[in-house]
Amino acid sequence: MKKIDLKALSKQELESFIKELGLPSFRAKQILHWIYEKHARSIQEITELSKDLREKLSESAYISNLELLGRQVSEDGTEKFLFGLEDAETIESVLIPDEDRLTLCISSQVGCAMDCRFCLTGKLGLKRNLKSHEIVDQIISVSKTIKPRQITNIVLMGMGEPLANFDNVVDALWRITEFMKISPRRITLSTSGIVPKILELPKKAPAVNLAISLNATTDEVRDYIMPINKTYPLKELLNACRKFPLSPRRRITFEYVMLKNVNDTPEDAKRLINLLKGIPSKVNLIPFNPYEGSKFERPEDARVLDFQEILIKGHITALIRKSKGQDILAACGQLKARYSLPGLLCL
Ligand code: SAH
Ligand code: SF4
Repeated sequence: MKKIDLKALSKQELESFIKELGLPSFRAKQILHWIYEKHARSIQEITELSKDLREKLSESAYISNLELLGRQVSEDGTEKFLFGLEDAETIESVLIPDEDRLTLCISSQVGCAMDCRFCLTGKLGLKRNLKSHEIVDQIISVSKTIKPRQITNIVLMGMGEPLANFDNVVDALWRITEFMKISPRRITLSTSGIVPKILELPKKAPAVNLAISLNATTDEVRDYIMPINKTYPLKELLNACRKFPLSPRRRITFEYVMLKNVNDTPEDAKRLINLLKGIPSKVNLIPFNPYEGSKFERPEDARVLDFQEILIKGHITALIRKSKGQDILAACGQLKARYSLPGLLCL
């Protein structure tokens, strides 16, 4: 008989499994608490259960874990974790310390199908969706490894397009908020702009923050660098943002990868101000991180600063995102999982 992976079960599935074993329902709660909050890696580690009960459970169940294949620490404190999945695919997660925050950037897919031209993950295409527990397990595993430090924020900005793996990502978000008890306010989901899913997200998922990888101010340029724009052009994307429910003082983050002579002109900055009218927003300017064979270049610092200044004069909060973890290839567009699967992160 194949053993049941307790980590892969939803709350309801775990409850029925516990019932089938003839155990009282509070055992399900205990198990969830030990897996998600106490980071138990095996049934044996759930010491709140008697030895007999642990043995009984182990006859038909186990707890799966991502395999930590590698860990690198950058000079600036950024850390990169390489994980192996049950089918031997690999993904990466990146931990970024920043003042009082400790943010974990997690992956939602192995590879990505969206094919953005400036992005390494896109070059490989999609290998597969991550299951919801594989998404969550990145947080559990890193949390356990870095104790006593604690992760304060989660960003879905690693490998993959989260909204293209909608159901599993939504399920993962519920597990992160309900089982791990991380507030949705501390979670940000970044998307290249799958409009129907942006509209569906607030109906199905906890109220997490939204980030949009905008990256261009005209359909012509966006069509060229992000093929998703041909299906959901700028106007539709920004209208979806206008409809996105935001509680007071919350804003949508717009990520803008700056590509030399492609989207970095003062005209772009002015157009960006107009595009964002009526949307509570902040802009993260991310100077392009070049990689071997990339067609694009990073603009000079002065060009980035000018762009920022125009936005600020237009009353838009605009931050320039320093590339973190460059020495260990952990900055945006630089992650490269061992089996040549690059991922990215941007903060
Ligand atoms: N697929 C989602 C989540 C990944 S976030 C999305 O695209 O939003 C990854 C971020 O890194 C995106 O904002 C993307 O625009 C940015 N990015 C990709 N390649 C980059 C590179 N080479 N340099 C800088 N930023 C890059
Ligand atoms: Fe996928 Fe995002 Fe990269 Fe585009 S930028 S290819 S959506 S990971």
